[in-house]
Amino acid sequence: MTNDSTIRIYYDDPYQIEFTARIIDQVKQGDNWGLVLDRTCFYPESGGQPADKGWLDGVQVIYVSEEKDKIFHWVTQPLPGPQVKGKIDWSRRFDHMQQHAGQHVLSQSFYELYQAETLSFHLGEQTASVEIDLSQASYELVQRVEERANQIIFENREIKTYFVSPSNLHQIPLRKPPKKTGDIRVVEVDKFDYSACGGTHPRRTGEIGLIKITRWEKIRQNIRFEFVCGRRALADYQRKTMVTRELVSLLNVHQEEIKESVQKTLAQVKQIRKKLNKAKEELSRYQAQEMASQAQTFFITEYYQDKTPEEVKFLARQIIRCGPYATLLATRVGGMIHVVMAVADELEINLREFQSLIGDIIKGKGGGSPTLLEFRGEKPDMFSQLVKEITQNFKKRYPNVLAEKGEKNNLTLT
Ligand SMILES: [Zn+2]
Repeated sequence: MTNDSTIRIYYDDPYQIEFTARIIDQVKQGDNWGLVLDRTCFYPESGGQPADKGWLDGVQVIYVSEEKDKIFHWVTQPLPGPQVKGKIDWSRRFDHMQQHAGQHVLSQSFYELYQAETLSFHLGEQTASVEIDLSQASYELVQRVEERANQIIFENREIKTYFVSPSNLHQIPLRKPPKKTGDIRVVEVDKFDYSACGGTHPRRTGEIGLIKITRWEKIRQNIRFEFVCGRRALADYQRKTMVTRELVSLLNVHQEEIKESVQKTLAQVKQIRKKLNKAKEELSRYQAQEMASQAQTFFITEYYQDKTPEEVKFLARQIIRCGPYATLLATRVGGMIHVVMAVADELEINLREFQSLIGDIIKGKGGGSPTLLEFRGEKPDMFSQLVKEITQNFKKRYPNVLAEKGEKNNLTLT
């Protein structure tokens, strides 16, 4: 270590929270000042572990970075110096210690049981994850790894840190070769895991508390496992207990019966939905017959507020089955208008001729066949205008059809 580099107190004592130091350098970058100190408890972001937060002379330290062996403590105002009193946010630090040590134990458990290497480690505010060189995972695999990792925790093994010179490094069974050169800091979970690591770790594995894998997914050719340790595991257990209790109360079953109960309920819902759809279709047929029998002209129109587009379409089809009718039905969907237009074959009207007219009036898009069109538009208030213009178009384009089919059935357009 050179004279101008900072003494990293956290290497020897990750439990030290407060310290005094001398300001060596102070640089301005944007709105912030980066302070270099002769000694520090602050851990700079590196090796997958986020930076500590805390205070220097009561001023909040928002970030700690490391560049070329220099540690910068970023604050939002300059400090007078030459001495500063520092304090780290201990709950944040201890959380990182639990997750990081947990990761070492978890990674070695994967390696020991499945010879699967850890390719990367991410420690976030909410979750931590490791990407493991495995092509697939199962509940059984996850449980085996969890059992091994938690056994190491229950044995409360010592976690030691020491520096090893390059010439002695071959004596250490490192899980992965180091990325750095020179003296290597080794973090050893007693006789279980040996990692080259600059992070902060608790004294014993017992302080990790618990390791739980919460989910896993395929990423690239590997599997990424999300996990929680310590207080995060407790919080996760508390959340899940709450959800379970709520489900037990909602479903009125024992905890062990939740899955079966939900499956049963979903099956019932499916069956009821099927019956309901059938009943709705039946109702639609009657509705269509009634609309046809009460129609004043051959052109039947209606604007609904609460039907689904599928229901409107079904109804339109039923109407044109009742006789030589044309129909224009619409319903509101959100702030939009959904339009269905249909004509009976025997009228020999080509609805494609009305496509651009409908699209223009309701400012929408759609299409269909010569006998059935469907459009969705942004102008829900243009329905009566649409009816008016289509009626005029019928008169203009199909006077013969109206005379033969319409008037014969006593259904002239007015
Ligand atoms: Zn590490």
